[in-house]
Amino acid sequence: MELICPICNAMVAYLFKCPTCGNQMENAGAIQDFFDDYSTYLPMSITQRIDDAAYDQCVHVFHCNQCNHDKRISIDKVTI
Ligand SMILES: [Zn+2]
Ligand SMILES: [Zn+2]
Repeated sequence: MELICPICNAMVAYLFKCPTCGNQMENAGAIQDFFDDYSTYLPMSITQRIDDAAYDQCVHVFHCNQCNHDKRISIDKVTI
């Protein structure tokens, strides 16, 4: 058995509406990918507390192209 994130593995697509403007937000990727490659470009609101993420959750960043709102969503990993 293995714990995997269903979004990272393209098993499901999550759709979220932007809480600010109602536009559909895009999955910008898992936060650990951001942290590896782009951490210097991210605001503190995204990079802070990454260590608090539960081991059985994958935190994704959803981005609204319309108003540039970013939202973090904790995705429960599933066992396969
Ligand atoms: Zn993921
Ligand atoms: Zn928006």
